[in-house]
Amino acid sequence: TVSAGVVAVQGDVSEHADAIRRAADEHGLDAEVTEIRRSGLVPDCDILLLPGGESTAISRLLAREGIDEEVKAHVESGKPMLATCAGLIVSSTDANDDRVQTLDLVDATVDRNAFGRQKDSFEAPLDVEGLDEPFPAVFIRAPLVADVGADVDVLADWEGNPVAIRDGPVVGTSFHPELTSDSRIHDLAFFLNEEASF
Ligand code: GLN
Repeated sequence: TVSAGVVAVQGDVSEHADAIRRAADEHGLDAEVTEIRRSGLVPDCDILLLPGGESTAISRLLAREGIDEEVKAHVESGKPMLATCAGLIVSSTDANDDRVQTLDLVDATVDRNAFGRQKDSFEAPLDVEGLDEPFPAVFIRAPLVADVGADVDVLADWEGNPVAIRDGPVVGTSFHPELTSDSRIHDLAFFLNEEASF
């Protein structure tokens, strides 16, 4: 059994829980999903998910509940995390917005709502490193990854900008992989991670 934590202070939670269960099932594993709304739960999680939503709110609530330090400790101990959309903004080193207290776990500069100014939301087939077929990526007021550090792997880009990146145990996407029935991004982040063993 894999103990999975979905940070649930704000944003979409149940879709991620379902995607984790499906991805685990493909590997013959059971996922026990815990919704994280307070401190004290993250230390028992093997894998973590930081969903989309509103990055300013997520950032504030993580700090208020003391979950921020636990998420950092999780990643610093090498355990996998998937951070999507607002979750990626919060995980970055620079969100270009003082209201977001970044966790500095993904070496990237991110611009909030940069895609959104042009197109509010759209879906596109995306070639992702490690996946055989394009992934149906749903972008909703998506952040633009403006710059990544030397140790960051770009797994996918869209119109010249990274939209899926990996920094050590963290996979970050500017799109929403939980909004389709395709759980391959969750699989990539958690179960195809060489460093993780369950
Ligand atoms: N635009 C949101 C933010 O800046 C992110 C949107 C999303 O998570 N779908 O936090």
